[in-house]
Parts: sequence; structure tokens; C-alpha cells
Amino acid sequence: MNKKIALITGITGQDGAYLSQLLLEKNYTVYGLLPRRSTSEVNLNRLEWLGVDDKVHLIDGDLTDLSSLIRIMQKVQPDEVYNLGAQSFVKTSWDQPLLTGQVTGIGAVNVLEAIRLIKPDARYYQASTSEMYGLIQEPMQSEQTPFYPRSPYAAAKLYAHWMTVNYRESFDMFACSGILFNHESPLRGLEFVTRKVTDGVARIKLGMETELRLGNIDAKRDWGHARDYVKAMWLMLQQDTPDDFVIATGLTTTVRDMCKIAFDVVGLNMDDHLVIDPQFFRPAEVEILLGNPAKAKEVLGWEAETSLESMITEMVEVDLQRLTRG
Ligand code: NDP
Ligand code: GDP
Repeated sequence: MNKKIALITGITGQDGAYLSQLLLEKNYTVYGLLPRRSTSEVNLNRLEWLGVDDKVHLIDGDLTDLSSLIRIMQKVQPDEVYNLGAQSFVKTSWDQPLLTGQVTGIGAVNVLEAIRLIKPDARYYQASTSEMYGLIQEPMQSEQTPFYPRSPYAAAKLYAHWMTVNYRESFDMFACSGILFNHESPLRGLEFVTRKVTDGVARIKLGMETELRLGNIDAKRDWGHARDYVKAMWLMLQQDTPDDFVIATGLTTTVRDMCKIAFDVVGLNMDDHLVIDPQFFRPAEVEILLGNPAKAKEVLGWEAETSLESMITEMVEVDLQRLTRG
């Protein structure tokens, strides 16, 4: 049997790295879209960390450039396309709302168009987000819960989400949206709160810093591990019919309690080091997210495997090692 071919946008990001590893284990040929940056030494740290940087094929292109996507689609002829590329940081989206709209919103439609024109039988995965629930309309959010986006990022993602549904219904494309709740790992960007905390706690433990400055620590998130969540992406594209799925743990925790777990890992008292800093508050907040993964369990047979405690412990330990090695 021929090897399946996958194309991943956002391959250099957290999920792109874990998904590449998963698909390579499943004997896929993996291509990744590589946007132009100011140096040819592209940021392959995450792929390197998982030992897959020399096993994936990278092709220059950008989500905002439809012609590059068409060219890549012609060259790669993918069986599956995973659209993970985005301006993905909520806080930045208030400062760069148009860029966020172009990359995170229109970018997804560019990928859908390239598929429709060149490889309409390719299966498409859209990286939708729990941020679309924003000001939550139900205590536990499922595929039926109405959306109420609370940031330019969430609004851009909601556009991409509905376009995915529309391409499925209008053009009979195999297009799925995974509504993923927050997922983290040692490969998470340092600007996101879990990694900021685990890196900060490791620095304090090593005597490199004395304090950790955070914003709204009462916010609650349903945090899972990226390694578990990329399995759900793949499973969605292996079904007989395309559909949308909430991917979550079904548990929610405050930033404060998540932070305490990290300080406990290194035996330090959180209250001696944590400082609340208004600069990290947002113009509008998503106070609480809690996902209902029942459909994913029933249809995909998917369940989160990693607890928040073990994930934060892993992240702190990896950050300690990184900082110790310099
Ligand atoms: P990251 O921020 O780690 O990765 C984003 C990726 O998008 C990077 O590879 C980045 O490349 C790439 N990218 C940015 N701009 C462009 C562009 N113009 N053209 C092509 N690629 C571009 O995100 P994650 O891996 O954490 O998340 C993957 C996807 O899932 C994202 O779409 C995110 O919004 C979504 N999501 C994530 C959740 C999470 O908790 N992690 C929750 C729900 C949804 P470069 O590094 O070169 O900038
Ligand atoms: P998000 O859910 O995609 O916005 O993921 P983040 O990890 O960026 O933020 C999760 C929650 O942590 C949000 O409610 C933030 O307001 C809150 N938070 C509190 N302090 C901080 C901080 O210093 N940095 C970040 N990124 N988030 C913080």
C-alpha cells in the first residue's frame, strides 16, 4: 500500500511537532508549510526536540499567500491536510487584530480553497478552539453550545470554523473542526501561562529569578497534554464521515491552582514569589472554560490520558534541565 501523505501548516509550532511525530510513527510522508522568516536558520527547535526535524519535508509558503498554497497542493498531492498555522496568542490579537484575521481566519479559507481547486478529495482538519465559547453560554461546553468569542483571535477562529462547516456542506469536502481546549507541553510557547509558570518556577528554583508576575489567576482552564490532543486530530480524519468534535479533559482548574502545582514540584511556597501585575490582564477575559468530551469518547474512542499534575511536573522538570544546561 502507498504511504499516506500529510501536509501540516504550523509544523514548527507545538502541535505541529507532536503531530509530525505521530504521523511519522504511522508511516506517513509528512510535509510542512514553512513561512519565510528573516533568517534561513528556521526555528526547528520543537521538531529537533522530538527528533523528527530531518524526517519531515519543509516547503516554503505562507497561509496568507493563496498562490503558494496552490503550488504546494499541486506538488504534494496530500491525502490529509492539518491546518494548525495561526497567530495563536490571544493577548497579541488585540494589538494585531488584522494580522490575526488574515492568518488565523482568512488563512484557513486559503487552505480550503487550495484544496477545493487542486485536491478536493483531501481530508481537512481545522484547528478550532475553545476560545470561541468565550463568554460561556453553558457551564460545560459541547459541540451544541453557542459561541461568544471575546477576542480578535477567537473571532478569527470562529470565521475559520464556520467556513470549514460551510465547505463541508457546500462542496461535500471531508472537512472537520476539532474544538480543542487548551493543551500544553514542554514545547508550549513561553508566552502562554502554563509554560510561563513552569519556566518561571524553574528559574526561581535555580536562583535566576526571585518572582513570577502573572495577571488574572482566577481564570479557569480545561488543560490537557498536546501529545494526547494530536491523536484526536488524526482520529477525526480516519472516520467514515466528517464532523466536529470537542476535545477536552472535562476538568477545569484556576491559574492559581495550576501555578501551585508547579511550585510544589520544586518544594517552594508560591506566596513567597507570585506577584500580580496588571500588565498581564486583558481587555476582555474568558473567565472559565470547561469542555464536554463525551462525543469524542463515544465516536472516536478518544480520551485525555495525562493529568494536569503529571503534565505540569513534566514541564517543570524539562525547564529545569534546559536552564541547567544553558
Ligand atoms: P503555535 O503558536 O505553537 O504554532 C503556530 C504555528 O503557526 C507556528 O508554526 C507558526 O510558524 C505558524 N504560522 C504563523 N503564522 C503563519 C503564516 N502566516 N503562515 C504559515 N504558518 C504560520 O500553536 P499551537 O501549536 O499551540 O496550536 C496549533 C493550532 O491550534 C493553532 O492554530 C492554535 O490557534 C490552535 N489551538 C491551540 C490550542 C492550544 O491550547 N495550544 C487550543 C485550541 C486551538 P512560526 O513559528 O514560524 O511563527
Ligand atoms: P488562552 O486561554 O489561549 O488565552 O491561553 P493563555 O495560557 O495565554 O491564558 C490562559 C489564562 O491565563 C487566561 O485567562 C489569562 O488571562 C490567564 N493569565 C493570567 N496571567 C497570565 C500571564 O501572565 N500570561 C498569560 N498568557 N496568561 C495569563
